[in-house]
Amino acid sequence: MRSEPVVPQHSLYPAEDRQSTDRIARSAVLGRAPQNPGSKPSTEGVVTDTRPVRPCTEDLQTADLQAALSQGELSLVYQPILSAATGAITGCEALLRWNHPSLGPISPAFFVPLAERTGDIVPIGAWVLDTACRQAAAWPAICRVSVNVSPVQMQEPGFATRVAAALRASGLAAGRLELELTESVLMGDAAVALDHIMGIRALGVSVALDDFGTGFSSLGYLQRFAFDRIKIDRSFIKALGKGRESRFLITTMHDIAHHFGMAVTAEGIETEDEARTLRDIGSAELQGFLFSQPLANEAVVSLLREEAHRQRRGNVGRQPRSSRHAAP
Ligand code: C2E
Ligand code: MG
Ligand code: MG
Repeated sequence: MRSEPVVPQHSLYPAEDRQSTDRIARSAVLGRAPQNPGSKPSTEGVVTDTRPVRPCTEDLQTADLQAALSQGELSLVYQPILSAATGAITGCEALLRWNHPSLGPISPAFFVPLAERTGDIVPIGAWVLDTACRQAAAWPAICRVSVNVSPVQMQEPGFATRVAAALRASGLAAGRLELELTESVLMGDAAVALDHIMGIRALGVSVALDDFGTGFSSLGYLQRFAFDRIKIDRSFIKALGKGRESRFLITTMHDIAHHFGMAVTAEGIETEDEARTLRDIGSAELQGFLFSQPLANEAVVSLLREEAHRQRRGNVGRQPRSSRHAAP
């Protein structure tokens, strides 16, 4: 988790929670290229919620947060992650949603930091892990599920055992689970976090470093902490159009990752230009609104069935979008 809430530029609550699965899968996901490279992808068929996502934080009561779990107000949506080379879906990131009874949908960028302060992130994080593993176990096995883990959870005794229990209860293969940590994991007791990372990787679960480059840590930790992947934050990608320095920074991040044997996922890809640049630089995977908004579980299931069917027919993955014709 980021230690400071990040205010998103626009609504974080698109169709995901409300749309019929087919409608999303057909019109909003992956198959519709923007008419002009670099233009905003079409959101036809997707109802984007334009309500402000910044709640009055004083309106957020700790008691509400505790009730959220027991009252079933929390849910998960999943954002597809694609192979940069083939366009095939390789994973989906689980993202937490809170539908507050009076305030409406609240961004995790606001309520997760609150839950971290109160400690409620521990039971909430356990629910996220269990739910994501259970739902992903019912997906076609072609893709993994990525779960965000708070630094607070990484200080809890027995966290790796908790992960093993979630795998066992769901029947999800360990190789299909990835946990996403941020650099702030080092702000607690780094030795405890390192221990958990070793335990998690020993299970066969992979570990990604989310929002790479946005924290305040020295790069030295990359030597000590064995990450399987880094995820380059949208802030770097957004800056690409503003000068050569951003491209240099992103290229250097890839060099560092490859030196340490880590794969790179570029997140927050919104335009064809960004996708092309990141492919050229060498990202293994791409994720962002250009390809898909986060989707309800049922929509992901339809999408993955379609994808698995295509792969069985030998038509592995989708061509990189830049090499395909724009959809009508
Ligand atoms: P994150 O893990 O870096 O997740 C990526 C965020 O970027 C998500 O916001 C996603 O909806 C958004 N995003 C994806 N593609 C694009 C794009 O093309 N453009 C833009 N502008 N944004 C894009 P979301 O779902 O609001 O989550 C915000 C943060 O909240 C996450 O950042 C993560 O740090 C945290 N979070 C979400 N779910 C959980 C969870 O289950 N547990 C914990 N501890 N943290 C979570
Ligand atoms: Mg993440
Ligand atoms: Mg991130």
